[in-house]
Amino acid sequence: MYNRKDYVSDHEWTRFLDFSKDLETPNIVINLNTIKMNFVKLKNSFPYAKIFYAIKANPGEPVLKMLAEMGSSFDIASRYELDMIKKFVDDPSRLSYGNTIKKSKDIKYFYDNGVRLFATDSKDDLKNIAEYAPGSKVYVRILVENSDTADWPLSRKFGCHPDMAYDLLVLAKELGLNPWGISFHVGSQQRDIGAWNDAIAKAKYLFNSLEEEEEIRLQMIDMGGGFPASYIETTNDLSVYASEITRFLTEDFGDDLPEIILEPGRSLVGDSGILTSEVILAARKNNTALTRWIYIDAGKFNGLVETLDECIKYPLITTKDGDKEGEVIIAGPTCDSMDVMYETTKYRLPITLKQGDKIYWLSTGAYTSTYASVAFNGFPPIKTYYM
Ligand SMILES: *Cc1c(COP(=O)(O)O)cnc(C)c1O
Repeated sequence: MYNRKDYVSDHEWTRFLDFSKDLETPNIVINLNTIKMNFVKLKNSFPYAKIFYAIKANPGEPVLKMLAEMGSSFDIASRYELDMIKKFVDDPSRLSYGNTIKKSKDIKYFYDNGVRLFATDSKDDLKNIAEYAPGSKVYVRILVENSDTADWPLSRKFGCHPDMAYDLLVLAKELGLNPWGISFHVGSQQRDIGAWNDAIAKAKYLFNSLEEEEEIRLQMIDMGGGFPASYIETTNDLSVYASEITRFLTEDFGDDLPEIILEPGRSLVGDSGILTSEVILAARKNNTALTRWIYIDAGKFNGLVETLDECIKYPLITTKDGDKEGEVIIAGPTCDSMDVMYETTKYRLPITLKQGDKIYWLSTGAYTSTYASVAFNGFPPIKTYYM
């Protein structure tokens, strides 16, 4: 159904099959080399930007260690992520607390660990930062509405209206903080590059008005994540994102760009993973049904949560590829009727597919291994291996 070569080269596929042949399923194999190449490509595409990897996309230790050694900085969402990354990063100026939802005691924990860069989008959070992380740099996350073109939207819950961002940055200064910049996230797997243009224009407006009216000179724009991984729906190449976004920035800011931060998650690690699942059963619900149900040993609760609402559509490869195909519904192993990955999306898989066959889920390096339940129905968390 999908051309595997569009996603994984022959060489890497052979290496993967060899590496994974004796592993129990379900499992995820992460190819560190892919992440390394993605990081280099992103750096070269945005030579003026600092990269803060969004740890939540894949917090595997080998991933964090490698990115830390390659010079990445890190966007952190909780004290637990901070504890994980502290092992690999000594310099706290490479860390930011990017979650706008945080307890005071966690703000203090970050401050005590030397972190001085905090995101916010509300007054009470800002006051907490002023109290527990005095003098720190704060940047305000603004709302951007482009959810219909992002496959995994992140709007609504995070960010505030630009008018409120203005007030918060004024208040930040009054509270003795350093009003540092603006952030946004245009939505994960954002296919419409124009989304960055709207957001950058809002940031520019805030830069100008705060300088003119309040003598607050902002220094930084954090452009979030949103860059794509390779799923079924096609996207532009990262180089197109880079040239367009760079053009948007220079149209608004000329040659005098503020400090630019990127917080990639999915685009760095998504393509690095292959989730191997085994078919438990292939079944029909009546004798003449044309659609078969394919039940596998991975599901929404152990690795495939981003199939919620069938948002992310992974390319699938099976051990029966080449045989005649028919329409299938693909479901997980638990006793929850929500544990169905694809029903509306009409996947077609070989009609010969049966118990014991393998289905490989390509591009499953982001938001899979830890974005999962612990032991629902007794199933253990999916195991991750690194090659
Ligand atoms: C999740 C997240 C990211 C990463 O987004 P991707 O679309 O996966 O690149 C970046 N920044 C923040 C604040 C996030 O919450």
